[in-house]
Amino acid sequence: MIKVENLNKFFGDKHVLKDINLQINEGEVISLIGPSGSGKSTLIRCMNYLEEPTSGDIYIKGQNIAKSGKEIDKIRQNVGMVFQHFNLFPHKTVLENITLAPVLTGKLSKKEAEKKAIELLETMDLLEKKDAYPPSLSGGQKQRIAIARALAMEPEIMLFDEVTSALDPEMIGEVLNVMKELAKSGMTMIVVTHEMAYAKQVADRVIFMADGRIVEENKAVDLFENPQDPRTKEFLSKVL
Ligand code: ADP
Ligand code: MG
Repeated sequence: MIKVENLNKFFGDKHVLKDINLQINEGEVISLIGPSGSGKSTLIRCMNYLEEPTSGDIYIKGQNIAKSGKEIDKIRQNVGMVFQHFNLFPHKTVLENITLAPVLTGKLSKKEAEKKAIELLETMDLLEKKDAYPPSLSGGQKQRIAIARALAMEPEIMLFDEVTSALDPEMIGEVLNVMKELAKSGMTMIVVTHEMAYAKQVADRVIFMADGRIVEENKAVDLFENPQDPRTKEFLSKVL
């Protein structure tokens, strides 16, 4: 589903991704962990071309995104992303927020997009909020709407960048539950998270990054219970 080969990224003369190689299979759930500044956000932003790699290649379903030309929008539509801050449009209703992209891109008609949005809101237990405006919602509700909005494009890959970090503790569970259901449904997911319990429970594989490199990757239980690299051990001793 995703293949990253010898990826390097510089910001000016700052080398923030160093020779990243990575392969992610269809339906796999990956947790990406590591200290702040280690390059996690930059790595997943490269995967949908929000950042341009300095060198190296990224393939989405076999297609090289840097060399995709006009196909880039199609590939991007297949890779949904949710951020720490929800970025919902405050002056549009929940339903409008969710239907906007599929209608604008011509993926769905307005009617189809509304049907899809209503299905998504039902699965997230938020149907009664369809005509509400984002500022009236709690953080957990906003983040579930942001996930619904990404899913409305029917992506095959979902990228999550610390989506629970800005939430009050009591709202983290409702967002993680939505992500758990999504993982169970077979979605290919990369989840940048500080929620180690979630990573342990849901991720097929955990990748630990430090200083722009993948230091260690392993099945979740093995990485957490038997970390090999001293940097992984040190990081885990601080967060577990
Ligand atoms: P993480 O998500 O693991 O905290 P980031 O990918 O956000 O790490 O950042 C990796 C490094 O790249 C950090 O040193 C950060 O300051 C730097 N960085 C990120 N984005 C930019 C940017 N747009 N311009 C310059 N430096 C950046
Ligand atoms: Mg980050």
